[in-house]
Amino acid sequence: MKKAKIIKLIGGLYSIVDLQTNEIFDSRASGKLRYVRLDEDSHYNVQKTHRTKLDKKIVTLSPKVGDIVLYDDSDENRPIQEILPRKNELTRPDVANVDQILLLFSTKEPNFSFNLLDQFLVLVEKARIKPIIVISKKDLLTDSELETFKKTLNYYEQIGYEIHYVNSHEKIGFDVLKTIFKDKVSVVAGQTGVGKSTLINALMPDLNLKTQEISDALGRGRHTTRHTELFFYRGGLIADTPGFSKLEFNILNASELKDYFIEFNKYKDFCRFKDCNHIHEPGCNIKDNEEILPSRIENYHKFYEEIDSKKEIY
Ligand code: ZN
Repeated sequence: MKKAKIIKLIGGLYSIVDLQTNEIFDSRASGKLRYVRLDEDSHYNVQKTHRTKLDKKIVTLSPKVGDIVLYDDSDENRPIQEILPRKNELTRPDVANVDQILLLFSTKEPNFSFNLLDQFLVLVEKARIKPIIVISKKDLLTDSELETFKKTLNYYEQIGYEIHYVNSHEKIGFDVLKTIFKDKVSVVAGQTGVGKSTLINALMPDLNLKTQEISDALGRGRHTTRHTELFFYRGGLIADTPGFSKLEFNILNASELKDYFIEFNKYKDFCRFKDCNHIHEPGCNIKDNEEILPSRIENYHKFYEEIDSKKEIY
């Protein structure tokens, strides 16, 4: 058995890179891989249901891009035999062992949305992955507009998030990006139109050709495909995927939402009730707190209501 990392999946066929020799070849998942025994503390339990956890202790698993696997090098097909424990995993895009997620937003076209930023941050915090906020198309704002914009976004830096401003066409801000991507597994996420492809292509000028080949092989445009692929970049890997096509709040309970608004932690001990949800509770230290950006509290309430109104279906 040898260790490899999955870097591509198209239609059941995996590309894996041997971690010792860096050799890349095709592989398929071994049939017996589908069942994995779980113990009580298994990391695979994380996103499984209560029922699966207690009754079955065996789950169906498929290898994902980003997985570290053991493959049988004595078999000419080099089948994947085992998936090693995952540090974390995403389902959309389907990637495991992610070091960081770049949340890409444009200043304009489409307009920047604090609501969408807060949604992304909640989901990234829930997945326990480090977010890095990247703002594209900074050239579409006048200098004074950009100043005002930065001042508001500065709140996010104060609470601990990293923010970078880039312009992909002029490659402004790219020196920092190159350092960020170095030696890391990164996912680039963002809504359509923010310039995800432009940014990735500007970082990797050879990529245009490569993605085109994949599209041709599948007979359709790359943006409609569901495949996930990691590209090598400066010792790291970057996932070029359709991104979070839909933000899935159904994986959250209303009561855990507050944990993913990270700055709330600083204030929550001063709420009157220990289990305060910061909605209507008397003596709440968060819902009217002037040190917190008003849109954060507003979005928290919106998301809370959205999740809470759907809870009866589970
Ligand atoms: Zn409270």
